[in-house]
Amino acid sequence: MSAMKRRYSASDVALAQFERAIAHMDLDEDLVAYLETPKRELIVHFPVYMDDGRMKMFTGYRVHHSTVRGPTKGGIRYHPDVNLDEVRALAMWMTWKNALMNLPYGGAKGGVAVDPNQLSRNELRRLTRRFANDISLLISPEGDIPAPDVGTNPQVMAWIMDTYSVAHGYTTPAVVTGKPLSIGGSLGRAEATGIGVTITATAMMKKLDMKPEDTRVAVQGFGNVGSVAAHKMWEHGCKIVAVSDVNGGVYNANGLDIPGLLAHVAETGTVIDFPGSDRIDNRETLTAPCDVLIPAALEGQIDERVAPDIRARLIAEGANGPCTMEGERILLDKGVRFVPDILCNAGGVTVSYFEWVQGLQSFFWAEGEVLERLTRLMAEAFEHVWRASQDKNIDMRTAAYTIAIQRVVDAVEARGIYP
Ligand code: GLU
Repeated sequence: MSAMKRRYSASDVALAQFERAIAHMDLDEDLVAYLETPKRELIVHFPVYMDDGRMKMFTGYRVHHSTVRGPTKGGIRYHPDVNLDEVRALAMWMTWKNALMNLPYGGAKGGVAVDPNQLSRNELRRLTRRFANDISLLISPEGDIPAPDVGTNPQVMAWIMDTYSVAHGYTTPAVVTGKPLSIGGSLGRAEATGIGVTITATAMMKKLDMKPEDTRVAVQGFGNVGSVAAHKMWEHGCKIVAVSDVNGGVYNANGLDIPGLLAHVAETGTVIDFPGSDRIDNRETLTAPCDVLIPAALEGQIDERVAPDIRARLIAEGANGPCTMEGERILLDKGVRFVPDILCNAGGVTVSYFEWVQGLQSFFWAEGEVLERLTRLMAEAFEHVWRASQDKNIDMRTAAYTIAIQRVVDAVEARGIYP
């Protein structure tokens, strides 16, 4: 493990962001302690038979940060570096994201420390079913609703839904979102996060008087978020000059042919070796000459070592927690603007909410209706955060946090503390 990974704590970042925001609010310190503390944290160790007949132990997590505004909602991540500190941070970020979007949810996150690319499909299915079983004391359509995150996808959600349904004796679509369409998924869900990134990034570009045709974009990560965001920004008229995935990056100062790149990735599984591009590495993607940078990979990517070399004027955070506090401070001091993660990538959970509502009612919407509602909610949330940042003269993340935290506080005060 690299030195960076050892000293980086996602929870420290989440708490520092929270503390920076509450400095602009008038909150009782007991209430602050309550908001900083996760409600419950489950760690499960479980065995899975591998295809070679050996049994292997895995560790998984499900953390509920807050249940005050409703059932908890948040994804499940499969990645070798998943740990309690990270899942705890991601759960807290979900609380603020859901509150900022005014979704009737608290915040949760889950994960398993595993590299899904090292497993066969059958191993992945057995691991998912066993993990779903072992966290089933927490998940339910009324209590806690998982969704995809890094390393998971609609198929994994289908297995979780099936495992839960078999145990209960009836099909329960609303226990997860991000499902395949064939079992009650929502139209528009797969693209929703990337679309939301584009809605909020382009709204910010408008405020900063950045014309799409003069805007160069770099995207770190080419998964479900980065690939859709790159495509939508390209459709919007921007030039996508740099893109990377886990294998490395590609660069073309005149703009990459994004439909061609998507076809190349579909065929080869990676962006590298895309004809007509130069090979760059991960760091060079972040520091590429561009106007908008979209980090759409993992947290902690933009730290004090890379931030001084970043040339973008605007960072649109497709990932959760892509900036460390030090990295962000350097960029803010340089005058770089942000669309913070809890706003920028909230399109995914927003359409998850639509999927959950459709599932509970067994009444499904047309794609246009999903996208129209998504666009409206994202645009409204963006304007709200922008206005708060202008009115109080605070950065966009702090503005987003103050709105979100106040909504959670209002719910705590309305409900009161038991007993
Ligand atoms: N994993 C996504 C996120 O970080 C989506 C969560 C959800 O849809 O519940 O927001």
